Amino acid sequence: MSSNIIYLDNNATTCVAPEVFEAMTPYLTEFYGNPSSIHRFGGQLAAKVEEARAQLGALIGAQNSEIIFTSCGTESDTTAIRSALSICPKRRKVVISKVEHPAVLNLGKELERNGYKVSIIPVDARGRLDMDRAREMIDSETAVVSVMWANNETGNIQPVIELGELARKNGALFHTDAVQAVGKVPMNLAELPIDMLSLSGHKFHAPKGIGALYVKRGVRFHPYIIGGHQEHGRRAGTENLASIVGLGKAAELALANIGHENTAVRALRDKLEQGVLASIPSVRINGDVEHRLPNTANISFEYIEGESILMLLDMHNICASSGSACTTGSLEPSHVLRAMGVPYTAAHGSIRFSFSRYNTEAEVDRVLEVLPPVIARLREISPYWKQQQN
Ligand code: PLP
Repeated sequence: MSSNIIYLDNNATTCVAPEVFEAMTPYLTEFYGNPSSIHRFGGQLAAKVEEARAQLGALIGAQNSEIIFTSCGTESDTTAIRSALSICPKRRKVVISKVEHPAVLNLGKELERNGYKVSIIPVDARGRLDMDRAREMIDSETAVVSVMWANNETGNIQPVIELGELARKNGALFHTDAVQAVGKVPMNLAELPIDMLSLSGHKFHAPKGIGALYVKRGVRFHPYIIGGHQEHGRRAGTENLASIVGLGKAAELALANIGHENTAVRALRDKLEQGVLASIPSVRINGDVEHRLPNTANISFEYIEGESILMLLDMHNICASSGSACTTGSLEPSHVLRAMGVPYTAAHGSIRFSFSRYNTEAEVDRVLEVLPPVIARLREISPYWKQQQN
């Protein structure tokens, strides 16, 4: 890790934990066999894959047979939604929310182009799902409801249990994109009405390029990637062994640290928010502050551009983000904040700070030192700010 960088963009990606790196290395150098081989050099590695599956299962409350390793969260989302449509060909409707990640939103657009009906649940000003509209939309035509567990931009936690129950009542499957929730929110899938769940290793200190899809026992499944017999024919392609080992280790560490996430990491986030509110005028915290991830702060600095704030912070070695990494660069305000009806003057100047267990209080102090002059400097040259002051 680069020591002089203050990395507050952990919802975009996280560092690989040193213990994860250490666990993975032998499977890149020494034990590089193919777990599907007949010879012992490769074949013995199948047990390592199962060990990682059990470690991940312990984190989310799943059995080994319910976990399929994939390449990333996006692949898991695609696989889940397309599987539901394949196994229920008579149902032609998908229900998603307006604040999904592009992995789901853009798949929805693609499905619409292919003749499916896609209903999109709106959210209120705090980013909370309109459950009355959800109840109207989820019906006997619906094959699958896919709503994220936690939002990547605001950290909002969605009512996945209620949605799962609604889906079940209507004979539809329920999938949740839990890419941001896994490792931050305790979960026991054995007890929840969730049929499928997506997760991604690089959001909780495993490497990029490894993810998983949970499919509840008894839920019918159709693979997306067809080929060899790996993952019991549910996801073809030679297992990414080292990364699977890394994902297992990261899950074990996440389980051990979940309390810390909800106390120490939360305290860092809250300290930043309180410090900003106390030292900078015309600021708003976006999202449902009572029901959100402990590590995420989404703050609007009104009347200035988020991109300019990021650039000046970057000059102080502080990494944050405006919207999701996938929309950064477009200069369009985030689709999530727009869905919430955040005014343009605020949405444009919104910054997401997302923490991990590797952040420190000294880093928050430093950000609180740097941020007020940065904002003041940008407001000095902002015509909108000047207009506001007159
Ligand atoms: N879903 C959510 C909520 C995310 O935040 C992300 C990544 O930012 C993804 C899906 C995509 O995950 P991956 O990068 O592993 O494809």
